[in-house]
Amino acid sequence: MAFVSNDEINEIRAQADIVSIIGSYIPLTQRGKNYVCVCPFHDDHSPSMSVSSEKQIYKCFSCGATGNVFTFVSEYENVPFIEAVSIVANKIGRKLSLDTYKSNVNQVFKEEYEIMLLAQKFYQNNLRTSFAKEANKYLKDRNMTEDIIKEFGIGLSLDSNDSLIKLLNSKNYDNKKLENIGLINNVNGKFYDMFSRRITFPLWDKDGNIVGFSARVYRGEKDVSKYMNSKESKIFKKGETLYNYHNAVNHAKREKSIIVVEGFMDAIRISSIGIKNVVALQGTAMTDNQITMLKKLRVKVILCLDNDNAGLIATLNNGEELVKNNIETFVIRLSGEKDPDEYILANGAEAFQKNVQNPISFFEFKINNLKSNKDLNNVEDLATYVNDVLKNLSTTTDEILREVTLNKLSNDYNLSIDVLKKKLLSFAPVEVKSIKQPAKKERVKKEAYTIASEKILYFMMNGNEYINEYRNKLGFFSDSIHREIANEIVYYYETNKKITVADFITYITNKNNIKEKVMEIVNNAINDIVTIEAMDEYIDVVLKITTKNEIKRLKDLMKKELDMDKKMKLAEQIAELKKEDV
Ligand SMILES: [Zn+2]
Repeated sequence: MAFVSNDEINEIRAQADIVSIIGSYIPLTQRGKNYVCVCPFHDDHSPSMSVSSEKQIYKCFSCGATGNVFTFVSEYENVPFIEAVSIVANKIGRKLSLDTYKSNVNQVFKEEYEIMLLAQKFYQNNLRTSFAKEANKYLKDRNMTEDIIKEFGIGLSLDSNDSLIKLLNSKNYDNKKLENIGLINNVNGKFYDMFSRRITFPLWDKDGNIVGFSARVYRGEKDVSKYMNSKESKIFKKGETLYNYHNAVNHAKREKSIIVVEGFMDAIRISSIGIKNVVALQGTAMTDNQITMLKKLRVKVILCLDNDNAGLIATLNNGEELVKNNIETFVIRLSGEKDPDEYILANGAEAFQKNVQNPISFFEFKINNLKSNKDLNNVEDLATYVNDVLKNLSTTTDEILREVTLNKLSNDYNLSIDVLKKKLLSFAPVEVKSIKQPAKKERVKKEAYTIASEKILYFMMNGNEYINEYRNKLGFFSDSIHREIANEIVYYYETNKKITVADFITYITNKNNIKEKVMEIVNNAINDIVTIEAMDEYIDVVLKITTKNEIKRLKDLMKKELDMDKKMKLAEQIAELKKEDV
């Protein structure tokens, strides 16, 4: 089969001028060597995006968006990277067969995905057999219509515990492989289906590949757990998936919001009433990976977790994390029923829609929550409450929110606004940023060592001479992520015999562990003048700090060392290092 090679993708990138491709989406203005435009990836009012014709990359000074021509098209059109390659190819008049490329990128797990799809089709077909009477009655009782069953690929694992394995063996799939992806179970050397006597719900990764199943009992069995999930495997990492994400992405972008629920049944139910921008955590706590997935959507997040205490605590914790990540966060708390699924079944679609139209901001939710367990007619409780509100308020930079909240406190409890303001200042000696300025991306203060290391990595992406300089003069980073990126750069160069920043970006787009960091490094360095002299200066900084740290480490060792001989040896080592460090 003819695959589209990396070389060909790089060729397409080299032929497609980023200035004219981005210019075909949004107007660009030339400013010096670069072009600027209003950033399409955040709520931009003045041109924050810079496009470098020389480097063939773009960066936003405000929200941090960075990348090459493919990542721009992928983000702007909201399509997978591979499709962006094909779109760009089309724009410059080259033909690219998407299917062949798709099978190229996914070929590592191609067979696993194939098997999962086959299993899902098998389970789904079981619902149409005579064995499915009880299961179909259960689904009907739960208001799971034919449409829902189809849309979410719901199926049935049969009573016999070898029907799936028989099917898959007849297609000559290896049992070890089936066991590894959690479809079958090895009991004393004999293999059985992992799921039986359960309704099955496929779980997808972010690209829509089936990577596992969740299966629940339907006959009211009490002696087994209600739900059984696929174990983690090389294709299924629970913390890296959000149920229904692949379906919800486009709807979320259109609605400019995404609703986050706990269970997949909630997501299915909400989707069934026409609200398609919904994903499920499959639990209560949000992982860093899930937050990154949500952040990438650049839309507001609406938390709608279960109506119990665990759901309340999870709303507070997850909301805090989302806000920390600069994600605009809202909250819906349903009352009465235990979760969105039951709420909709009991109160109907319209009642739920009303909730969706009126979410409260996470801040307001947090403030309201401070009132719980307090009697605000009691002076002490009221004082505690007001203090807590001011403490929370001191962490926000939103001036209007401060003003509104202070006025409300003052009115509601008859307190002097000046006293409140004074008290607020005592919690927050920081300057209040003006709301009128666009929210600048939080610049985390980096140490000289990190800055220098990251500059060196950026230089390395600019050509072999910089990679050689690194190899000859440094050769190693103590920080694991820097080390990993350096290894990838070297590997990329070895394989392709040339390297540019823009092509390296293509290469790392599916390397989730380093992607964000590489983009951040490029974003910070895009306007740097790349010379060997400048690189040497950064290498110098890293070496000096490394030596300094080593001296400190040895000194600490020396302090603790009781053996005089060993102590002397350490002192010699330190003296040696100090000589170098001039
Ligand atoms: Zn931006």
